[in-house]
Amino acid sequence: MITTTGLTKVYRSRDREVTALDGVDLSVREGEVYGVVGSSGAGKSTLIRCLNLLERPTSGTVEVNGRDLTALAGRTDRVPAALRAARTGIGMVCRRFDLLSSRTAQENVELPLEILGVAGRRERARRARDLLDMVGLSDQARAYPAQLSGGQKQRIGIARALACDPRVLLSDAATPGPDPQTTRSVLGLLRELNRQLGLTVLLVTHETDVVKAVCDSAALMKGGRIVESGTVAELLATPGSELAEELFPLGVRASGPDRTVVDLTFHGESATRPVISQLARTYNVDIAILDAAVETYRGRQLGRMRIELPGRFEDNVVPIGFLREQGIQVDVAGPAGVRTTAGRTTVREAVR
Ligand code: ADP
Ligand code: MG
Repeated sequence: MITTTGLTKVYRSRDREVTALDGVDLSVREGEVYGVVGSSGAGKSTLIRCLNLLERPTSGTVEVNGRDLTALAGRTDRVPAALRAARTGIGMVCRRFDLLSSRTAQENVELPLEILGVAGRRERARRARDLLDMVGLSDQARAYPAQLSGGQKQRIGIARALACDPRVLLSDAATPGPDPQTTRSVLGLLRELNRQLGLTVLLVTHETDVVKAVCDSAALMKGGRIVESGTVAELLATPGSELAEELFPLGVRASGPDRTVVDLTFHGESATRPVISQLARTYNVDIAILDAAVETYRGRQLGRMRIELPGRFEDNVVPIGFLREQGIQVDVAGPAGVRTTAGRTTVREAVR
């Protein structure tokens, strides 16, 4: 639904240049919720603004719903009609698009329809009320923005972004932290809309723990680049993935000289607890669970667990092989609880 190739944005002012996007290749499938994570200044907002060409990329291409928007943009600052038409298929929620304080919630939602001259007055009002209902605010139709909470304003912004029936919604509204509860409920709403309307959603968020509850896929941005991306399950299965570490964090714990610390990654094919107790029973070993971050995700067990087995690695080749046979990814932690490439390679080879 959204594809970018080599997307680059350089901001130039008189005395300096900032490369905000540095060759971004992004791929968002139709009907998925895609989360973009990254620290401040990573380029997330620039990316989102480039996707509907609110910001003109310096180079690279943006395709949305099979249309190459960069080709539609033309060379002047005037927005060609073809680009304007393509943009109505892309809803946008961001802090720059504040609600108009002189208009009620319902009138704010009607605004895009008015501007585009869609339907008559009564039809516009009817659609706006349906949208308010969808975001759970039909009782606030006559309220003015000043009378609404931050979360309610964000919901009205979402309703307004949906006024023209877009197939894609871009959201850069999640402010870092003053109220994580509100952020969560707004992101939950986006997930709901994704399910109900088949809407493709790309959102920027600082709440990494929300990503696993809401997103099908995610990307980590750093210095204008996407350094990791994939479905949540794919990221988990990637050894050393920073995003997976953030989503399913495990504490660091030193192992003794005759103990083996092993990280298990559950991909959703196996139930966690039976496998561990089966392992203990079958091989008569004492297993210490050092840490676990396992969750039921879309009805499947997904996550990681760090366990400790008695004996050195060589003594545990068979139990580790058993775990792998159950469809669990096994990585051996190094001596200080730090996973080492060498350890991983050994396990893979030993088990194969
Ligand atoms: P994020 O949303 O991840 O915090 P931004 O996309 O806002 O990141 O910014 C990426 C980089 O581009 C930052 O270094 C920022 O200072 C710079 N930048 C963003 N917008 C502009 C602009 N309009 N002019 C110049 N530099 C900008
Ligand atoms: Mg930003």
